[in-house]
Amino acid sequence: MKYPEVRNYVAGDFVQGEHAYLDVHNPSDGSVISKVPLSSREDVDRAVTVAQAAFPAWWATPIKERVQVFYRYRSLLQRDIEELTALVTEENGKVAAEARAEVLKSMELTEFACSLPQIAAGEVLEVSRGVECRIERFPLGVVASIAPFNFPNMVPNWTIPNAIALGNCLILKPSEMVPLSANKIADLLKEAGLPDGVFQVVHGGKDVVEAICDHSGIEAITFVGSTKIAKLVYRRGTANLKRVLALGGAKNHLIVMPDADLEMTSSNVVASMSGCAGQRCMAASVMVAVSNTEHIIARMVEHAKMVVPGDNLGPVISAQAKVRIERYIDEAEAAGATVLVDGRNTVVKGKEDGFYVGPTIIDHVTPDMRIAQEEVFGPVIVIIRTKDLDSALAVENASPYGNAASVFTESGATARYVMEHASAGMVGVNVGVPVPREPFSFGGWNESRFGVGDITGRGSIEFWTRSKKMTTKWNREHGTNWMS
Ligand code: NAD
Repeated sequence: MKYPEVRNYVAGDFVQGEHAYLDVHNPSDGSVISKVPLSSREDVDRAVTVAQAAFPAWWATPIKERVQVFYRYRSLLQRDIEELTALVTEENGKVAAEARAEVLKSMELTEFACSLPQIAAGEVLEVSRGVECRIERFPLGVVASIAPFNFPNMVPNWTIPNAIALGNCLILKPSEMVPLSANKIADLLKEAGLPDGVFQVVHGGKDVVEAICDHSGIEAITFVGSTKIAKLVYRRGTANLKRVLALGGAKNHLIVMPDADLEMTSSNVVASMSGCAGQRCMAASVMVAVSNTEHIIARMVEHAKMVVPGDNLGPVISAQAKVRIERYIDEAEAAGATVLVDGRNTVVKGKEDGFYVGPTIIDHVTPDMRIAQEEVFGPVIVIIRTKDLDSALAVENASPYGNAASVFTESGATARYVMEHASAGMVGVNVGVPVPREPFSFGGWNESRFGVGDITGRGSIEFWTRSKKMTTKWNREHGTNWMS
């Protein structure tokens, strides 16, 4: 193994425990690069006890001092960007440019946290003569963040800087498929001067997640992953009276109008569906082609052929994921769809054991096919043809998901109509991946998000804090009224 067994990070140390272990693979060649512990309820309990002990001092540290840690952390992300990029590539498979972009995004997220003292100030007003109401935000206490495999560095950084800068102690449960980046983050936070116990990592799978949902010492949970597990976590966490924000899967529709710019549209659609091997919750997976868009589809096929597995396209996460994705394609073909570009049975020379699926475009898919409805999570896009814009929106609106949707058009009126009527939390115009950047918050609608608020940006301030309303009067000469 290239890396030693992964350890939990508790009370500022990487601790050895008695655990069963799972292999961690490099998806580009299938090799085992490390082992990850499957931690237990007791491990979660230990981390909560440590976090509870660390909380009073961290909370009592003024926010302007707390964010100093994140100024330093951001510099350390920059200093170690090559190593962080390589780790993401090794454990997740995405190509270097994509992995690097992820780390750069983590830096942007950290910059937002550094600005929190300017943004998160409270409110104050004289409500009666001499009577002042003020609202101050207080941290929740011990909180937890559960992450998926697809962004080993960025998704943990959706929550770590904001939750901690706002005064909480955070326990991270990374995906068991990509545990290495999380421990490197722990190293950097320690080097940046974060007190021990304020950030901890408990590795594992289902048992750890369930223990987090059940633990009475954890006040709030964010979850990012598939809709199936998001529902489980949301239900179990809220049943235990916790604040929960659970982000789920996606089926993102790109509506392409006949007037769309040929080059921009065809290249953007292909980049959106194939970037990070289609394993982004913002990836395009359905193109709704309105009326005559033959010329755009033909050019998309040319662009897809320039996407080369092993070169500018990484593998999918696991052998099982490859089988699942190829089965979706088989099924669609058997149901009468036309496979225009076929990524099945892709083998990369020198990486024959890697989990590669080539870029795939499937035309003449109908809304009732499974591949049109379910999240495939691979470099695959299906084309559904409609005669007009309202029929295209009806296809988009019928999806139970609602993460992102985009329209490609040269008409402002059409663009505005789609932005208003798409049933998604993040919409774009002539943008394949309409990710809101800081300070704007990230979060979808429908079955792509359960709970109130967003996970990043300004929306996260509400989630990670609770407000206290304070009413005071000091000047007796102002007399009395119904308040006093
Ligand atoms: P996943 O749901 O399988 O796993 C997410 C987390 O849940 C992991 O930490 C995992 O250990 C844990 N988990 C898995 N099975 C569990 C179970 N039965 N009980 C309790 N916990 C369990 O998701 P994934 O495969 O790691 O990630 C891909 C999914 O994440 C896709 O659906 C993608 O769309 C979604 N995603 C969504 C967003 C978003 O912002 N909406 C962002 C990134 C990824």
